[in-house]
Amino acid sequence: MIPLFDLTRQYKKIKNEILSAIDKVLENGRVILGEEVKKLETNISNYIGVKYGIGVANGSDALVIALRAMGMKNGDKVITTPYTFFATASAIVRNNGIPIFVDVDKESYNIDLNQVENILKKEKVFGIIPVHLFGQTLDLEGLLFLKEKYGIKILEDCAQSIGSEGIVKNEIKKSGSIGDAAIFSFFPTKNLGTYGDGGMIVTDNEKIYELSKTLRVHGSRKKYYHDMVGYNSRLDEIHAAILNVKFKYLDTWTEKRINIAKKYAEFFKNKELSVKYPKIYKKTYKYHVFHQYVIEFENNKIREKVKEHLTNVGIGTSIYYPTPLHLQTCFKGLGYKEGDFPISEKLSQTTLALPIFPELTNEEIGKIVEEISKTLKED
Ligand SMILES: *Cc1c(COP(=O)(O)O)cnc(C)c1O
Repeated sequence: MIPLFDLTRQYKKIKNEILSAIDKVLENGRVILGEEVKKLETNISNYIGVKYGIGVANGSDALVIALRAMGMKNGDKVITTPYTFFATASAIVRNNGIPIFVDVDKESYNIDLNQVENILKKEKVFGIIPVHLFGQTLDLEGLLFLKEKYGIKILEDCAQSIGSEGIVKNEIKKSGSIGDAAIFSFFPTKNLGTYGDGGMIVTDNEKIYELSKTLRVHGSRKKYYHDMVGYNSRLDEIHAAILNVKFKYLDTWTEKRINIAKKYAEFFKNKELSVKYPKIYKKTYKYHVFHQYVIEFENNKIREKVKEHLTNVGIGTSIYYPTPLHLQTCFKGLGYKEGDFPISEKLSQTTLALPIFPELTNEEIGKIVEEISKTLKED
């Protein structure tokens, strides 16, 4: 059995530290918005290279709160991609806005900035939520160019990309450091995940920081006095304590993920299979932090066949994402139809996510590629 993702292997290695961190919170008795949340907010904002962090209940809420704190109003249009997790787009609707979908680039699977610009030339748009999909950094300079030229707001969705890096004017910058704000998710399967839900907003902007902090506690600056109607969306102390332990290992785990991706690439290359697999970039070592390792087949039939075979031999896989967002029932009212975003639609039919987590062994990677090879060579 090789699972798609395994939390227990990691837990065995850090069990004592985790249990003592939880114990400390419980002994101390402060379980809501205490020192551990503050410490994590400092850890993450320093790591990304911005001033402020605001811990919230999950990444989805982080998107909703950040958009609102950035000044989004009812009816505002916000651009994002249909090839992402649902929460990216639902955050726009939860703020009574209108998502404008733009297809992804066929190489990076990230939003196509040329197509974004075509829309910006024609329409008034509040902002854009770029997603650093699967852990691969979007073109940061391209984003900043659009921000300056069209005066749009940027909320970076870094739920899958914590620690990933891009280059801005010859300087290495982390994903999450160039937007007006950025969000992170600490869902268990994310690169930095807790044993439950958690999320964070980071920003350099004091106003966005103050508003986000107010919105996470029912819009209240002073307890029981409400300036606005906000949310109940706090990060728990226990989760923050767990995350502060795990944070120390983040860079080591990221390196392991990158090495796993290199191993996969090596095996795929040796076997000369007709599989498209992610490139390893040299410009910045952490251009891609491999939250997911996603490969692409020529067509849906082959993808399904490989998936079925891997399932039969006990290898976990998953499809990200089987239905692009513009075709979701709940977004019918937006008026999109099949054929509108051909690349996203094709990827939903042809990609497959393979196991990746820091503790995956070389033998396991070899076995996975071997099994894929067997299926492909049957044809
Ligand atoms: C996981 C994820 C989210 C949402 O995070 P939750 O903590 O699960 O609410 C948002 N956007 C993307 C791209 C994600 O992968």
